[in-house]
Amino acid sequence: MEKNIHFYSRAFSRLRVNRSKGMAPHKPILLLSVIELIGQEKIKQNQIFLSPELIASFLKFWSQLGTESYRPDIALPFFHMKSEGFWHLKAKPGFEAIPSSRIRLRTIAALHDAIQYAFLDAELFNLLQTPAARTALANVLAMKWFPHGKTDIERMLEINSLQALQDQLQREGGVVYGPEDLKEEAEFVVRNTAFRRIVISVYEHRCAFCGLQIIDPFGQGVVDGAHIMPFSKFRDDRISNGLSLCKNHHWAFDRGWFSIDEGYKILVSKSLREESPNARPTSSFDRERILLPAKEIHVPRPDALRWHRENVFNSPG
Ligand SMILES: [Zn+2]
Repeated sequence: MEKNIHFYSRAFSRLRVNRSKGMAPHKPILLLSVIELIGQEKIKQNQIFLSPELIASFLKFWSQLGTESYRPDIALPFFHMKSEGFWHLKAKPGFEAIPSSRIRLRTIAALHDAIQYAFLDAELFNLLQTPAARTALANVLAMKWFPHGKTDIERMLEINSLQALQDQLQREGGVVYGPEDLKEEAEFVVRNTAFRRIVISVYEHRCAFCGLQIIDPFGQGVVDGAHIMPFSKFRDDRISNGLSLCKNHHWAFDRGWFSIDEGYKILVSKSLREESPNARPTSSFDRERILLPAKEIHVPRPDALRWHRENVFNSPG
């Protein structure tokens, strides 16, 4: 049979899904997410990474179409869709045996370790380059799997969920999570990505300590969105608990080799011994002001900086 739109319409309406607790919507929701990201040109090549964008899109569709009976676990369909024939897994070196073995990868972390990306039949990927085919196949999924959902799939396909979350958090200055929040691995990945991207963008991709800014053609830079008070302890994702730091200075900050005083001036540990023949030594930044974001709501909070001075600065380990 020719692998055309009819072929894939049929395949999409015959997905093998778990029905032990009612229909498990994981596979159709993952396909909707892939269709969305291709439409937004977030997926430009036939390489589907388990990216924060894909996870955010999956969670968005799940919130509208999912069920209480199952957890919104994207790792499951990302791995098990391989049994559908049109979805394939590219393993990382050393893990080539996994896609065809009976081993099951159940978590996002396990997938990241072993799988480089998923890819579609070339015929299917080519089809999905046209808006008409995307709409048609999204409608197949909607009618077959979510006939009772009063959702407007076409409208949902136009919302960039991770960007929408970033915009909201940036406006609100971020959020502090309670102990019940972020239990799902997927939710944590998305929220953590949003925090880091906002911090980096409000510092314009520069290191707050040394000013370094390097951005490659893909928009990847050299700085991290770092937490001042560690997330594991405080669950504080307010942007005012963030600092944009290059890799070296992120490392040094987390180890207490420098801190920042109440006037936003750098304090370098006196016990540091360093040789820096080709770059400006860390100690020479002592008493210089860090770079600050333009908006007050994003500027590092005095209590967060005080915590760092009292608990991390000059304390080995
Ligand atoms: Zn730096």
